[in-house]
Formats: sequence, C-alpha cells, structure tokens
Amino acid sequence: MTNNALFYLTNNDMPVVSHANGIYIWDTQGHRYIDGCSGAITCNIGHNHPTVIQAMSEQLNKIAFSYRTQFESQVAIDLADQLVNITEGDLDKVFFVGSGSEAVESAIKLAVQYFVASSQPKRSKFVSLSPSYHGSTLGALGLTGYEPLEAPYRSISISSIKVPSPDLYRYKEANIEEHITTVLKQTENAILTAGADTIAGIVLEPVGGASTGGRMVTKRYMEGLRALCDRYGCLLIMDEVLSGMGRTGKWFAYQHFGIAPDILTLAKGLGSGYYPIAAMMARKELVDVVDLSGGFMHGHTYAGNPLACATGLAVIDVMNTEQLISNSSKQGTYLHQQLELLALKHNCIGDIRGIGLLQGLELVQNKITKEPYPPSFNAFEKITTLAKKRGLLIYPRRCLNGLAGDHVLITPPLTVTSEDIDEIISLLDESFTAFEQIK
Ligand code: PLP
Repeated sequence: MTNNALFYLTNNDMPVVSHANGIYIWDTQGHRYIDGCSGAITCNIGHNHPTVIQAMSEQLNKIAFSYRTQFESQVAIDLADQLVNITEGDLDKVFFVGSGSEAVESAIKLAVQYFVASSQPKRSKFVSLSPSYHGSTLGALGLTGYEPLEAPYRSISISSIKVPSPDLYRYKEANIEEHITTVLKQTENAILTAGADTIAGIVLEPVGGASTGGRMVTKRYMEGLRALCDRYGCLLIMDEVLSGMGRTGKWFAYQHFGIAPDILTLAKGLGSGYYPIAAMMARKELVDVVDLSGGFMHGHTYAGNPLACATGLAVIDVMNTEQLISNSSKQGTYLHQQLELLALKHNCIGDIRGIGLLQGLELVQNKITKEPYPPSFNAFEKITTLAKKRGLLIYPRRCLNGLAGDHVLITPPLTVTSEDIDEIISLLDESFTAFEQIK
C-alpha cells in the first residue's frame, strides 16, 4: 500500500490495520497484536464491543447530529448526569467537546472568563508541571512541559509557569517527604514570584501519562497543591484526559488522594475509541458566575452531538455491567507485581510506576546510577519495535534531557485478564532480552 498522501506516516513499514476484537488487533497480513496500550490509552473497554456498536447504530438510526444551541438531546442530558454522578463531588456542570486538547482549552478559557467575570482580570496565568503533556492546540501546548513538542511554537503560544513534577524515582533529597516539601515550596515560590493575584490556576495530571510514563504523586503533594490554590485564590485544574474513566482503578485518579479539583478534563476512555468525545467539568458556582456575565464564550460544532453522547453512555454502561473499575484495580496490581518480577531479570528496567492499569517502565543504562540511555540511542523506539514484532503494542516516549529517561506505558484495556497479562509479560520478557543484545 502506498501512503504518499498521509502527512503523519514516517515510514512505510507500518502494518495496515484490518480488524479488532477485545484486546486484539489484526493487520491485513493476518498478524495478531495484543493491544497492550489501548491504542493511545484510549480503548478502555476493548475493541468492537457489541453493546457499544448496538447503541451507536440505534442512535445513528434516530439522529447522528443535532446542534447544541438548537436542541437538547436526552443522551447528552443522561451522559452529563452520569458524569456528575461518578465524580462524586461538586463538579456538577459538564461541557462536552471532541478531544482532550479541546477539553483543556475549555478549562483554561472557563477559568480566565470566570476571573474576568469576578472582577479579577489580572488572573490569567497558569502554573503547570514539567514534564507534562496537556494537548496539541496552542493553549494546551502552552501548559505542556515537554520541550520537543512545545519549543517550535513558543513564539505563538502562551507558556505557563513551569514547576518541577515530583519525581519519586530520581529525587535528590534524603527521602520522599523531603522531596515533596521541596517541590511544593518551588510551586509556591513560582506563584509568589509571578504575583499570586495573577494566577488563574494550577493544572496537572494527577498520575502522569504519556509525558512521564505513569509518574505518581503522593497524597500530601495533592493536599499541598489544593492548599496552595485555596491560599492564593486560584483554581485547581486536573487534566484526566488520560488517567480518567477507570484507568487507575477508580473513575478518576484524583479520587485516590481525597481532594477535589475545581475543574476536570476527561477524554480518551469516555469514547473508548468508538467516537471522539471529551468533556470539561466544573463546579456550578464557577459556571454560574460566567453565565451571569453573558455565558461561556466558547464551543465547537461537534460538541455533545447525540452520536457522541450515546457512545459515552454505552461505554459507561459496559464499565458498570462488567465491573471494569474493580478489574482495573485488581489486574493493575497483578500487572505491577509481574512487571516488578520482570525488572529483576532485566537491568535496563529502572523504575516501575503507576496505579491500576496505568503502568509505566523507565529504561536505564545502569540500574544503580539510574543513568538514562543517550537520546541518540532511541531506546523508546527500539523496545517498542521489538515488542511490536512479537505481537505486542506498547506506548513509547523519548527521554527528556536531564529530566527523565526513555519510558514506555503498559496500559491494556480494562477488560484484561490475568492470563492476558501473563502473555503480555512473556512478550515483554522476550522483547527486553532482544533489546539488551543491541549494542
Ligand atoms: N491531556 C492529556 C493528559 C493527554 O494525555 C492528552 C493526550 O494524550 C491530551 C490532553 C490531549 O488529548 P487529545 O490528543 O485528545 O487532544
């Protein structure tokens, strides 16, 4: 197959996809792949689920698209109710969009418009973490702490104030508690240096995704950020585009830490790969202030269309019926244990981190010194290719000079069984053995 017209294809070795079922994808040559990363950590309920296909086809037979300023739709109302229900707190307003980046843009704009409407127009700066990933549109990119993606556009995007993300693997202090105190202090100093009355919000992924390979934070860190937002009058914005919708063994990762955000973004697992749908959720009092000032000046054509919402509803139905949140927690623990055992066999696996079925491996040249591979070695690409050749898909990320080593995410669909995990581990074992033979 020739692919001259496709902008994003970088090589011609790419297999051509044929079909999928559950955790498996087949290419047109008949090769089977275990989807060990749910595509881009997206297909949370697995591929070709009959419940979703039926719900989508029923909705298509009624109406695919209606515009949100012309009609309400029952599926949009029901999906919003479900989301309010599963966030279990004060996030009682839902704004639908089509992608994670759009959800993050919506969060930034809602925060800024809220402060304009509350007579605090100076509050327009955001604090975010480095490393981090928040999306590819200019606003979301400005929050992103990942230089290779962000640097080419710095002249036209508005960079947030970057503060270090806690690194529970490579911290320099005597212990984790001290490290958390240091990063919280750095965050507070950044707020004070910029002027506390200019900060609109702190934005973070509660459990790191693509940019950090599943980096974890601690409860005290999350409580510390919540306290900083409360002390300085800015908003806590959780980007759960990747970590949300059951990926970590709870509906949302922030629910592990006993604190609540003011604004939440979610995406990937909501449509689970069946249709693009994402959402921004916010506390009612924020939205009320914005509504009084004339309404939220933002929106996208496809946002909240009936087909998207019917898909999201069917995905949540499957999550509940098949108890995928508890499976994510149970199989995530099993996967983590098996990865720990794998690391005992392979010196190149430096760190294993994550929660639920969001697990990451950081690759190192030397386990004792934690020295990463040089960027030119492209360790992330090599291990991903070796795994793919053996029929296993994993999600790679290049190292960040001085900030982190190369890493890969192991994030299978939440339907995964222990037997599936055993197969994933065995294929990873073979792949790492081959990786360690490369000189
Ligand atoms: N935020 C996070 C945490 C993400 O992981 C991503 C995508 O990977 C995005 C935002 C952007 O989402 P999208 O690619 O759907 O625009």
